[in-house]
Amino acid sequence: MRVAVLRLGHRPERDKRITTHVGLVARAFGADEMLLAGRDDKLVAGLEDVAERWGGDFRVRSVSSWKGEARRWKEAGGKIAHLTMYGTPLSETIGEIRKSEALMVVVGAEKVPAEIYEMADWNVGVGNQPHSEVAALAVFLDRLWEGEELEKEFEGKIEVVPSPRYKTVIERRGEDGV
Ligand code: SAM
Repeated sequence: MRVAVLRLGHRPERDKRITTHVGLVARAFGADEMLLAGRDDKLVAGLEDVAERWGGDFRVRSVSSWKGEARRWKEAGGKIAHLTMYGTPLSETIGEIRKSEALMVVVGAEKVPAEIYEMADWNVGVGNQPHSEVAALAVFLDRLWEGEELEKEFEGKIEVVPSPRYKTVIERRGEDGV
């Protein structure tokens, strides 16, 4: 299944850290790409740098029209799951969502545009209490993959050797020595 995370409502002056965390969680928990509604070149470059050093095929891109992206996604046969505290419980929807060939997972910031509730195939509540887009995305992706995403091999230039006590990291150099 191809998974793209669409981050709505990013305000460069306020949301830099949380949007970066949305991107890090998307990548680490098995999404293929993040689409950022709006422009923040520095943030995109930071996430690309992580992907470059830590491996995998994760991509990030800014989109000027999230509606256009969502519309094209649906026209191509993709499905959309919008994460919102007002939505249907995750446990009731995840089985159906898992059947998607291409899934766009939408998370908001402060308040999302009303149209996304209409465009979404599922409005999904990760519980019905207010919390965070980072937490909602992590729990959603973990349930989607049933935990298998945590076993994913990234084959990056940097790799952690799991240890009960020490910080052990392998750094690989490319053929050109960098
Ligand atoms: N009251 C806001 C709303 O319209 O949903 C909460 C905004 S919250 C700070 C930012 C984002 O976190 C939301 O757009 C949603 O994607 C996600 N979120 C927060 N709580 C959630 C929950 N219980 N279930 C699913 N997503 C949630």
